[in-house]
Amino acid sequence: MQRILSNQVNDLVGKSVMMQGWAQTVRAHAKVVFIDLRDRTGLTQLVITGELVEQAKGITNESVITINGTVTERPQSLINANIASGKVEVQVKEVSVETVAEPLPFPLTEEKVSEEVRLKYRYLDIRRKKLSDNLRARSAANEFIRTFLLKKDFVEVETPYISKSTPEGARDYLVPSRIEPGKFYALPQSPQQYKQLLMVAGLERYFQIARCFRDEDSRGDRQPEFTQLDLEMSFTNRDEVMELIEDLFTSLVKKLFPEKAFTFDRFPRLKYADTIKEYNSDKPDLRKDKSNDDELAFAFVVDFPLFEWKESEKRYDATHHPFTSPTPEFEDNFEKKPKEALSLQYDLVLNGSEIAGGSIRIHKPEVLERVFSFMGHSKEGIQAKFGHLLEAFRYGVPPHGGIAPGLDRLYTILLKEESIRDVIAFPKTGDGHDLLMNAPSDVDEAQLKELGLQLRPKK
Ligand code: ASP
Repeated sequence: MQRILSNQVNDLVGKSVMMQGWAQTVRAHAKVVFIDLRDRTGLTQLVITGELVEQAKGITNESVITINGTVTERPQSLINANIASGKVEVQVKEVSVETVAEPLPFPLTEEKVSEEVRLKYRYLDIRRKKLSDNLRARSAANEFIRTFLLKKDFVEVETPYISKSTPEGARDYLVPSRIEPGKFYALPQSPQQYKQLLMVAGLERYFQIARCFRDEDSRGDRQPEFTQLDLEMSFTNRDEVMELIEDLFTSLVKKLFPEKAFTFDRFPRLKYADTIKEYNSDKPDLRKDKSNDDELAFAFVVDFPLFEWKESEKRYDATHHPFTSPTPEFEDNFEKKPKEALSLQYDLVLNGSEIAGGSIRIHKPEVLERVFSFMGHSKEGIQAKFGHLLEAFRYGVPPHGGIAPGLDRLYTILLKEESIRDVIAFPKTGDGHDLLMNAPSDVDEAQLKELGLQLRPKK
């Protein structure tokens, strides 16, 4: 018999059905047992009477069961509008227990469960409606983004996760090489260089829902790995990139979050210097009513300084990343005017959070080389780190630019969650631990040996 789901039974009064799922609650009376059966679509009330009662009384909460039964209408007074199958119940004729559940570490109905426990038992936390709804909303939003961009002629390309360091200003996660002991891959801080190489390759429009890896010290809402909508376009300019993102996010919100109100009809473009002067921040919260979390104040910030002074290293560093183009008036003289030089960077802010950064890139190899060397890289250093990109740029590179919205943060705001962990299936703690898998963890001596690694004694 075909399995019937909770959201289908309302229409099947009088029919025999087979259903499968979790016994969310088992309420036993002397002569009747009620079970709320949960499947991916919701709950169905099962009614068990007669000779099955004794067996049903032994079913523990959260055990997985299969039943056969008949759908009957509920008496008018017992109709429950809150559940998908609220007009009916199922009179059980046969029940079998697929797997018995032991008592759970926390009741699924309990609201006040510490985050530590929720993360250790994430698979139980996801059984709860709030988290599973968030994951479904995330999936629907990702699908919207994909469809939107594919319609506009973008190509979705996966780029390597085991690769070489790309400078985005954070520490790299390193992966030791077994084939060449003593050498390392790095997990990408973003697909930045690959997407630029795809522009050299002639794809013209690329996107990817990509994982990025940055080994940063814990700061509230950061995750060691996070997800970006990474995209890049050739023969473009900053207005075109900003308009594309504005169009994408406006239509996504209208379709999937129709309850939201936009503070501005069009996303304003604010100059960095003005924003700092007026709000003392480059990610101002521009909502008219900050207590209303259904209000969305998107805005772009533009005209960032090209460089920022790094006191600890006594050198200039790129404000965004070294591939970002200066504005045309500073292309020839940024070395002489490093403090004044502006760049073609743009950030997207939403309700006080930075949710995207991007730029028009330097596509002239000689300008790129000058930026690297101004930032303090030696000729050999440039060759070792970026030689592949500079060489690629010598074979015909189109002008190009892109952006990378951070999807975890965007979805957190849209779903009105406190923490980005609530929109990620298996997040790490604020200090980078995976409590479920218990990572990071020790590895075997043999694994280290194979990699040519030896641990220093702990101090
Ligand atoms: N790779 C950049 C980042 O991760 C985004 C971009 O410039 O497109 O911030």
